[in-house]
Amino acid sequence: MSIFDIVPVPSLDKAKHILCIQPHPDDMDISCGGTLAALADHGAHITYLTVTDGSAGTPVRMQEAELAAIRRQEQIAAGAHIGVRDYRWLDYSDAQWLPEAALQADLIRAIRKTRPDTVFTIDPWLPYESHPAHRTVGLCAAAAVLFAGMPNISPDQLEDGLSPHNVQQIAFAFTAAPNTQFDVSATWARKLSAIRAHQSQFPDNVWPVYEHVLTAKGREFGAQSGCAFAEALKVLAPFHLHCNIDILG
Ligand SMILES: [Zn+2]
Repeated sequence: MSIFDIVPVPSLDKAKHILCIQPHPDDMDISCGGTLAALADHGAHITYLTVTDGSAGTPVRMQEAELAAIRRQEQIAAGAHIGVRDYRWLDYSDAQWLPEAALQADLIRAIRKTRPDTVFTIDPWLPYESHPAHRTVGLCAAAAVLFAGMPNISPDQLEDGLSPHNVQQIAFAFTAAPNTQFDVSATWARKLSAIRAHQSQFPDNVWPVYEHVLTAKGREFGAQSGCAFAEALKVLAPFHLHCNIDILG
């Protein structure tokens, strides 16, 4: 017996109000842009919440504010390919350690404000993930999903007129333990166009390698589920996020 026999893995097809919580501009487009574009095509309202300003993402020294402004515009251009309808920016410095408690409260506030049925984020338990922002944002997003419905957590937000909100499912991208492969054959080209809009991150001289890797993985996941291209995600209900000894089963 597994917990998943009793409380099954949720279906992304039911996602109608989606909040994407990403460490940097580009993470959602790269990791699950095809899935998000497909869900947008089926009527889902998608909000991108970007935690950091992306100001560390350069191999050559440049002004942080200048790079942050470029990356914000790139994300908005990319989101047009995906069908993103709403953008929110927390603007934490990309060059500094993220303060977990403050970030978790900010993400609970964002969930109580946007009231999503589905949250997408980065899998913080990806083995050997060395980027602290990816680990911290994924952890805080998962905790925020667990706690947004509990009024004694961040009760000051209730005094601001917000009310508790229960998210129905969370989808982790960039995961090494997927339980869902989503057919993105129809939106694969748009995903690549979205990634290409992040010109500061994927200039012409590096894009061929990324395109090769992304296409090979997309085809591999697609072959496993009988379609041309797929993306692999770990989809869980909030019930699965605490004391779940079957999580890797
Ligand atoms: Zn990132």
